[in-house]
Amino acid sequence: MIYADNAATTKLDSEAFEAMVPWLLDEYGNASQPYAFARKPKKALAEARAIIAECINVLPEEIFFTSGGTESDNWAIKGSAFADTEKRATITSAFEHHAVLHSCEAIERLGYPVSYLMPTADGVITEDALGGMISNTTRLVSVMFANNEIGTIQPIKELCKAAHLHGALFHTDAVQAIGHVAVDVQKLGVDMLSASAHKFYGPKGIGFLYIRKGTNILPYIDGGTQERRNRAGTENVASIVGMATALKENCVSMSKNITYVQGLENLLLDSLETSHISFARNGGDQKLPGLISLSFAGAKGEVILHRMDLMGIYISTGSACNNTNIEISHVLQAICLEETLAKGTIRISLGKNNTREDVEHIVNSLTKILH
Ligand code: PLP
Repeated sequence: MIYADNAATTKLDSEAFEAMVPWLLDEYGNASQPYAFARKPKKALAEARAIIAECINVLPEEIFFTSGGTESDNWAIKGSAFADTEKRATITSAFEHHAVLHSCEAIERLGYPVSYLMPTADGVITEDALGGMISNTTRLVSVMFANNEIGTIQPIKELCKAAHLHGALFHTDAVQAIGHVAVDVQKLGVDMLSASAHKFYGPKGIGFLYIRKGTNILPYIDGGTQERRNRAGTENVASIVGMATALKENCVSMSKNITYVQGLENLLLDSLETSHISFARNGGDQKLPGLISLSFAGAKGEVILHRMDLMGIYISTGSACNNTNIEISHVLQAICLEETLAKGTIRISLGKNNTREDVEHIVNSLTKILH
């Protein structure tokens, strides 16, 4: 099989797996208990927190473990809204992940106003667009670090500066970026940042939310006193250790991985060019390495996906067929991609475990399907 859907999830790094095992089999104590058997898991949590904090240049006490990107996004959006008695406005973008969009819809139903920024055709949320929408009654601006369908990296530092000038908080969903491209929170200036381990070769069902010290936000999950009373629930020690191990590993090898994956991406695009298939690449110039959104006019993305599936190649699509018509993803709609291109859009997301042979197979299969 050829797995080319690394933006959906990644294979667990073997180092991360090995690091998890002791906490599942031997050191299974509840980290919040006061006795000696809890000491090692408690220490492991503190070490994992410190490792993660160092990777993104924040303080350990600003890292809060969650069940993944979806929970982190829900917490950032809802927790900061519910802490605001004046119900001031939220600004987000129209092509966020549904974890952000549906959280925004949920707070809208409760009377918190939300406005949606439109990206350019290249998939960029510009400072101008934000400038035309933000005011001193804005509470939060939430714009993703990199889009999960087209890979475009957003000008987060500049957008964050504009938010702060108006007294608003800034959250970024960095789920697709963390562990793949450099993310330095101090340089960016963001107040909250969401991440998910399974996107950077860590385990599924674990992630974190960075919350800058002093940010006005309520806990999202109520219960026990874990995470300094901010996120209740018995700590998932094995997964947290696995996440920290994977993040450190991928931050240390980041520049090597970027060069390698970018090389695979270039090979794929060059081979497609020489195979004379006509295609358009979505997402502009500033993109995540390896995340390739391709549109083939007149083709159907879902048909390509299923034919590739039969050949043992796993990719993703930007449009889905329901009973009566083809539904174009909200991301492709937001960048106003022409309908015939949008319907024929696929996402190939290459990662460090892919090989040049994988890429050759992918191109050969696409050529067979599309010629
Ligand atoms: N945000 C983005 C940009 C994503 O790509 C995803 C997952 O696809 C999520 C949030 C949700 O993360 P999780 O699967 O950890 O809940």
